[in-house]
Amino acid sequence: MFESAPTILIIEHDEQIRHDVKFILKGIGYHVVTASRGLDGIDVARKISPDLIIVAMDLPDLMGGELAATLRSEDRFLTTPILVFLSEDSPEEIDMAFAAGITGHMVKPINLEALPFNVEFYMSGGTDSIDDTERLQVARTRFLQDVVKRLEERIRELEDKNETLERIDQMKDSFIQLTAHELRTPLTLITGYSRLLEDHPPMQELRKQDEGITTLIDGLVESITRMQGIIEEILTVSRIMTSNIELTLAPTNMAKIVKNVVIQYIDVIQERNLNLYFNESEWPQSMRADGDLIQLTMSNLISNAIKYTPDGGDIYLHAQTKGKLIRFSVRDTGIGIEHDKQKAIFERFHIGGEVETHTTSKTAFGGGGLGLGLAICKGIIEAHGGTITVESSGYDPEGLPGSEFIIILPVIANSSQAVFTSNKTGVLKRLARN
Ligand code: ADP
Repeated sequence: MFESAPTILIIEHDEQIRHDVKFILKGIGYHVVTASRGLDGIDVARKISPDLIIVAMDLPDLMGGELAATLRSEDRFLTTPILVFLSEDSPEEIDMAFAAGITGHMVKPINLEALPFNVEFYMSGGTDSIDDTERLQVARTRFLQDVVKRLEERIRELEDKNETLERIDQMKDSFIQLTAHELRTPLTLITGYSRLLEDHPPMQELRKQDEGITTLIDGLVESITRMQGIIEEILTVSRIMTSNIELTLAPTNMAKIVKNVVIQYIDVIQERNLNLYFNESEWPQSMRADGDLIQLTMSNLISNAIKYTPDGGDIYLHAQTKGKLIRFSVRDTGIGIEHDKQKAIFERFHIGGEVETHTTSKTAFGGGGLGLGLAICKGIIEAHGGTITVESSGYDPEGLPGSEFIIILPVIANSSQAVFTSNKTGVLKRLARN
């Protein structure tokens, strides 16, 4: 009947039973596949379409009956024999299993000697049966009631867990925001003191006498500035994520903004022999947007293009208006991004490499950050009613496939999620709601 060995899928959470049953059935020539959870079992069944399915009644996630009923509802499993392993030999259990659509049953502990005969019997079209239709009807009603009850319990359980997760997520946000906020004050003081120290007359004298002092002070100031940058980045992202982003919409000169950003990075671009292509005339001279935030977005994208492109590579900046939409793009010839990471990189704290090997350099090749830059960009662009996406054929530090970040904005930045309010000076402000 079967050209190759028939396949049997065993869905059983008890490892010992799974092992023993597999051993016996394999020994008599069946091809055996196993799963320890109900949902995994359903996935495997859909993938391999087995010739017979053995399922335990007491699985940790789904009841065997629920699993059988699910499979039976699909055309391709209408006639597949399903053998259920019951944990108790009660007529009620057996009736319920039949109501769910099983073909036959065995009771645990499984009689391993009888197993091959039973499997052959069900495989060749044999079935157990209940003659009493009234009893079967009662079992069907009870089965349905049971399913609905369990479903309700599961939904409540999931709702509780979801609530807890949301609470923890909020706590995490507040913790990050509070910590960054608290760190900002002493850091501002340290910055002030370090500047005073720099300008302190006796220190100027010391600098002249000892070059090492200059190196020490410069290092101190540079590290503090970088730390301030990180804290500001955390505060910006948490403001954006907690929907506290306020847009100050005004006519914005994109050409000027992008030029400013390019100037900001011009030294490193030259140092690292990168070729940056930017045609100022392509960029709109006046569009309604929050100039500061759009500048932050462009700065993040361009600094990423610099970081993830090796020396000598190319970076292209383009703008194009199509009907009521404006498309900005930042394309590089860098290391590229794996397909399955292309969505996740826009989430907070998502970084490509290992945390331990990360540096916070904004421009060195392979430098990285906190994984906040793109989350900030996404928050800003979405608050403007636009979208930001990435295209890359994959990650390859040798082949350098490159990446292209694409922003699409409505010509008049206009978001259905936004509420417009006027502030005292008459500047139109927009409060983004998520
Ligand atoms: P980070 O500060 O770590 O650069 P981002 O949010 O800006 O954080 O980026 C998240 C991750 O996305 C990076 O760690 C990197 O793996 C990937 N990435 C971003 N831009 C590029 C790019 N132009 N080329 C390759 N990978 C990139």
